[in-house]
Amino acid sequence: MNTPFKLLVFTDMDGTLLDHHTYSWQSAISTISQLKLLNIPIICNTSKTYQEVKQLHFSLSLDSPFIVENGSAIFDSAPKNSNNNNSATQAEPMHLIGANRTDILDCLALARQKGFKFSGFNDWSVKQVIQHTGLNQTQAEQSAARAFSEPLIWQDTNVKKHEFIHFVEQYQYTALQGGRFLSVQGQCDKGQALKWYAKYYEQQTGQPVLTVALGDSGNDIAMLEAADVAVWIKSEKPFPQLNKIEQVYYSTKPGPKGWQQTMAHILHLYQSNQLVKTS
Ligand SMILES: [Mg+2]
Repeated sequence: MNTPFKLLVFTDMDGTLLDHHTYSWQSAISTISQLKLLNIPIICNTSKTYQEVKQLHFSLSLDSPFIVENGSAIFDSAPKNSNNNNSATQAEPMHLIGANRTDILDCLALARQKGFKFSGFNDWSVKQVIQHTGLNQTQAEQSAARAFSEPLIWQDTNVKKHEFIHFVEQYQYTALQGGRFLSVQGQCDKGQALKWYAKYYEQQTGQPVLTVALGDSGNDIAMLEAADVAVWIKSEKPFPQLNKIEQVYYSTKPGPKGWQQTMAHILHLYQSNQLVKTS
């Protein structure tokens, strides 16, 4: 390798590194292993919670930092030997960008009084979380352990949905549409979190970084715009539109198969010094 840049890979999880239906990453395992060998961090940047990512880190043997709840908070690496025994505990983030969930729930109670119709994690039992997500019991409990956001299912027209988004914005929150849920959170997104960590890494190591971001839906737009190299992973919906035009790649396969396909190509371009810094 003759590149002056350190590559940092930021990836969405659901529908991107994980299959939308089965949550499996197995199709991407050979490129994941290759990145590990090259000491290139795979930084999960996801709507998932701290508890969920910690478990995935354990399964994938990852020890990189990670970003949870749509850019709300950045955590240092989870211990490699972590397991479910201490699932009630949550570490302090190394950097917090988003808002406290209890404050978000206060705003949502007001929205309900105004007649907006939705149903969210706070309204559901673990059994209902399982029905809405297809997760198993443990995963559903980890997913329900939210600290910085509230995912909702919208139960009214699109016009009303836009009125609702405007309503929460008046209270300094945002509502982002992901693959499954409309997520209400602080004024943060995956792109701000990517930029913060890339800058932090450069300051800590003195090495310039080149960022890659992989995603599959609307809540990934900010992350892909913020990265030097953007990758859209094919999903059932059309690819969202980006303002960024340089170094944008599109997978022809969905989920981890598409991740494997595009990431292997980008790694080749990186190793032959064909990628440039655009951000
Ligand atoms: Mg996704």
